Amino acid sequence: WKNAHPTLAAMAEHARGHGDSEFLIFEDERVTYANWYRAVAALAVELQNIGVSKGDRVSLAMRNLPEWPVIFFAAASIGAIVVPLNAWWTDQELVFGLANSETSVLLCDAERWDRISSHLSDLPDLKHVIVARNQSALADPARALEEIIGRPNDYGDLPDQDLPTVDMAPDDPATIFYTSGTTGQPKGALGTHRNLTTNAISVGYSGAAAALRRGNELPEPTVRVGLTVVPMFHCTACSAIMMPTVHGGHKMVFLHKWDTVRAMEIIEREKVNATGGVPFIAWQLIEHPDRDKYDLSSIDAISYGGAPSAPELARKIYEVFGALPGNGWGMTETMATVTSHSAEDYLNRPTSCGPPVAAADLKVMSEDGAHEMPIGEVGELWARGPMIVKGYWNRPDATAETFVDGWVRTGDLARLDDEGFCHIVDRAKDMIIRGGENIYSSEVENVLYDHPAVMDAALIGIEHKTLGEEPAAVVNLVQGQTATEAELQEWVRARLANFKVPVKVLFSEDSLPRNANGKILKRDLKSLF
Ligand code: ATP
Ligand code: MG
Repeated sequence: WKNAHPTLAAMAEHARGHGDSEFLIFEDERVTYANWYRAVAALAVELQNIGVSKGDRVSLAMRNLPEWPVIFFAAASIGAIVVPLNAWWTDQELVFGLANSETSVLLCDAERWDRISSHLSDLPDLKHVIVARNQSALADPARALEEIIGRPNDYGDLPDQDLPTVDMAPDDPATIFYTSGTTGQPKGALGTHRNLTTNAISVGYSGAAAALRRGNELPEPTVRVGLTVVPMFHCTACSAIMMPTVHGGHKMVFLHKWDTVRAMEIIEREKVNATGGVPFIAWQLIEHPDRDKYDLSSIDAISYGGAPSAPELARKIYEVFGALPGNGWGMTETMATVTSHSAEDYLNRPTSCGPPVAAADLKVMSEDGAHEMPIGEVGELWARGPMIVKGYWNRPDATAETFVDGWVRTGDLARLDDEGFCHIVDRAKDMIIRGGENIYSSEVENVLYDHPAVMDAALIGIEHKTLGEEPAAVVNLVQGQTATEAELQEWVRARLANFKVPVKVLFSEDSLPRNANGKILKRDLKSLF
């Protein structure tokens, strides 16, 4: 190793050692680790040639393509700060991300180029644009990525060269991931090399700890195949899926958009072991009427995080696929994984998102942050560890509010039980206060999910003159099932205190509106009332 520190350059050197084993599959394109490294090295040299140096921002705006991990590691390995932009963003939002991060080089796919090309005059810092997979002729000043590294199936023709050597330390910044914007304007979380390399081992290490806690032996290490649909521009996919994959020499199969039939075909063809990302994907597989037509027996794990999930999902996964369910809690500010929950631990504690990973600490604090809450009581969750980012890019106000003495204030309400397992009860911003009584939206949603006719449910606060807020629900039913407003209200009343019963239940024909990361957009639902 040229570089023994935990940096992304060192991780690339390590992964090069997986040689001819396959790393990435997308449609009919297959890329081995050795060939991926060739492309990473070739692009890194080219980025240096066009003037990218340590600390410069290099944005990456594309769907999950094999080029994504090439660009990510090429830019980070020469010390640039990689800015993965949300591929679902509109042109205005992309302009925001590029301007906010003061990006000098953008690598994108043709679709993103179409959105951004007429706005270049608003982006004075942007010096170079490199476009992958352009179907149309490129207008100045962009150039084609194919000219530099070719198409994925041709990476083997690139020269076998080493990555350039750049002096880097583990706590140097490596990434700016934007938060999902669920509660407001997205914020750029400035992550370090150490944040990401920590995540490379957190997930596997937690699985091992859970196995040992059950008294089971560790399984023989084998190459695992993961089907990845969640977008790489969200830090969960990058740090909780790609990093452990690269570290362990596993295989990723990309799919651009969730399509249950296509996913089942790929699971059968590639003998996929693990999938998930968000709870929605697990439900789609479970509920699909043609599931039995495919051989899905290779699936042995379905994991997710990033949003609350119905407690019954864990058992459903186990019963339907014989697979182990997994759940993890984290946020962009923690570079994803802070808790990790799997197997029997999860089946036996389905309302928990698990214990903290080995490198993390959690505590539950009073609302004003003055004292720690007793075990079992709800308060704001604070997290600490080597995965916590440095702060927000260009947002000193928000940084000072959120990052306190090495801890991140998460804005989530949670309790820790006497075994150290964490239970998220709500986002502080989603909690409904009805005449002084606190209603945790996820508690009521979980009861609604338990109703056999309910597919999707969200509880939101609607304004009330004297009480302040009242709870109301929006529900999407399982195809072919029926339920009335009164029936669902009665269902909740039988299980929870009266003040938690939704005063109104609206039925949505479609599944509820979600952002790119699978989170229900409650702000959008409020307008329905
Ligand atoms: P913004 O901060 O811009 O409003 P966001 O908080 O949705 O958006 P992310 O960083 O993507 O942006 O999401 C982190 C949040 O997702 C957490 O604060 C928590 O509310 C929720 N979350 C993550 N994992 C879980 C989980 N396993 N169970 C319940 N909620 C989760
Ligand atoms: Mg947040």
